Amino acid sequence: MFELNRSQKEIQKAARDFAKGEFDKEFTLELEEKREYPEKIWKKAADLGFIGIQFAEEYSGGGLGVLDGCLIAEELCRKDSTMGMVLTLSGLGSEAVFRFAENGLKEKYLAKVTEGDMLSGIAFSETDFGLDMSSINTTAIPDGDALVINGKKTHVINGGSAGFYIVLCKTGQDEDPLKNLSMVLVEADCDGITVKDSGEKLGLNMMKTSELTFKDVKVPVANLVGKEGKGLSQTDAFLNEIKILTAAHALGIAQGAIDRAIDYVKQREQFNRKLARFQIIKHKIADMATKVELARLITYKAAWSFDNGKPDATLISMAKMSSARIAVEVADEAIQLFGGYGYMKESEVERFYRDAKIAELCFGNREAQKDLIGEAVIGKIK
Ligand SMILES: Cc1cc2nc3c(=O)[nH]c(=O)nc-3n(C[C@H](O)[C@H](O)[C@H](O)COP(=O)(O)OP(=O)(O)OC[C@H]3O[C@@H](n4cnc5c(N)ncnc54)[C@H](O)[C@@H]3O)c2cc1C
Repeated sequence: MFELNRSQKEIQKAARDFAKGEFDKEFTLELEEKREYPEKIWKKAADLGFIGIQFAEEYSGGGLGVLDGCLIAEELCRKDSTMGMVLTLSGLGSEAVFRFAENGLKEKYLAKVTEGDMLSGIAFSETDFGLDMSSINTTAIPDGDALVINGKKTHVINGGSAGFYIVLCKTGQDEDPLKNLSMVLVEADCDGITVKDSGEKLGLNMMKTSELTFKDVKVPVANLVGKEGKGLSQTDAFLNEIKILTAAHALGIAQGAIDRAIDYVKQREQFNRKLARFQIIKHKIADMATKVELARLITYKAAWSFDNGKPDATLISMAKMSSARIAVEVADEAIQLFGGYGYMKESEVERFYRDAKIAELCFGNREAQKDLIGEAVIGKIK
């Protein structure tokens, strides 16, 4: 566990080399400024097998694990926080298709995602319900061989660019959310879908985030992903996989921020000394490096638990929560070390800081993770 195997090291190096070769700083700043998707780089990443590496080879995946995906996400985010997240979230939701759907849906959609022909997204959150998915209002009502979807989803990553969405809907009358929610695959070009931009964001600016409205949208019943009524437990399982990915994003962001801070303190002179020679600066770097290593260990261990068939939900929540916090703290300290230059776009660390924050908010925020961890650790109370 404490050393990556040869294949993992090769994947790590391939991702590092790809990012070094493709993520040009000026070009990235331009894309972020124009809020443009890195289309060509996404296609190249897919050609090299970086998208959907955990999917089976029959779907053009790499047949590898979530840990391998983490290594890619870490290296890409280390070189560029936005680019790394945008590329590794290009197929968001396809994980649910791979893990839960019938073969027909897998055959129809997964290769398109892994080969870079289609983006995808998840439409879970609603204006009134973010974390509390058991209370959603969007419905999918059976009508012959079809399901008719009505409702409104918010903050959908890739909304308006994706080829399909995994939509969490109410499908049953049962009061118990563990029995009445389902995941439904909805093609983006179905009649009745309208898309509206969610508005300007703090970070992740190369990627669209949209509100989707579904008005009598008809999809075949065969588009149910997994079992009818099992949407909530499937969502929990899906989010376990995505929380590990988010922890890896955060780890890469933290590593990228400290890389830049170290370079800077080694060349910047004040009071006739390199900043790196001040003891307080050494201590700051030591604290940052220790945090990054802790994030790495817990993220890899969480991924390892997933790949070994026993996803440890408590550990995964710990990894997501702590890596995301570490990314925010390390990027914050990196800006401090850069001084005034850290506040400028040119430094890159300001963008790492902005991008880090989303890792704390999305796919289960800090408070929710603490709830899960606290309950698991304390256990039954008599
Ligand atoms: C850039 C971006 C991209 C997103 N992408 C997607 C996407 O692709 N698909 C999708 O479905 N959603 C997406 N989301 C939505 C995101 O998952 C939600 O914002 C998140 O789940 C939180 O929901 P909320 O904003 O409604 O906050 P709320 O659930 O209203 O929570 C607000 C705050 O209240 C506190 N809180 C809430 N519940 C509790 C509790 N039980 N105990 C203690 N404190 C609590 C927390 O501090 C929390 O941050 C995205 C959001 C953003 C900003």
